[in-house]
Amino acid sequence: MPIRCEIVTQERIVYAEDVDMVIAPGAEGALGILPHHSPLLTTLQHGELVVKKAGQEQSFAIGGGVLEVRPDKVTVLADAAETADEIDVTRAEAARKRAQELLAQGLPPSSDRFAEIENALKRSNIRLRVGQKKRRSGLPGAMDMSH
Ligand code: ATP
Repeated sequence: MPIRCEIVTQERIVYAEDVDMVIAPGAEGALGILPHHSPLLTTLQHGELVVKKAGQEQSFAIGGGVLEVRPDKVTVLADAAETADEIDVTRAEAARKRAQELLAQGLPPSSDRFAEIENALKRSNIRLRVGQKKRRSGLPGAMDMSH
């Protein structure tokens, strides 16, 4: 018996499928949700969300939001969400570099700006982690440009 999983942002429906399990980045740590889970409403932190379906796993980069669990449905209202395939790794690398450079300037850790940049750093790190899980194109052998 599966559980419905819907991941939506203000702009779009990112994912809507019946799955076997959802592992979400809850505010207090990873949250595993199976069918018939008791109702729950919680916030999400920046992190990786994994859905398991028919022995396969799919990962999403989640930029915070809210998670609602009902016995037959998990709804994620994410501030930002991307599948591994959607992640622009070059953009995430640039965002990480920018955040690291700003943090190196020595802002006071108590400032709002510091927290904002730290969050940008977290988002980029998660995107880079999830982006590594891109499905291969199916073409044999990646091109080697090193010669
Ligand atoms: P950047 O500084 O590169 O804009 P950000 O962390 O500020 O990154 P967000 O505010 O989290 O970006 O997201 C803004 C929008 O851009 C969202 O729709 C999000 O899905 C998308 N997005 C951000 N970074 C990437 C990326 N590396 N690849 C694909 N989509 C991205």
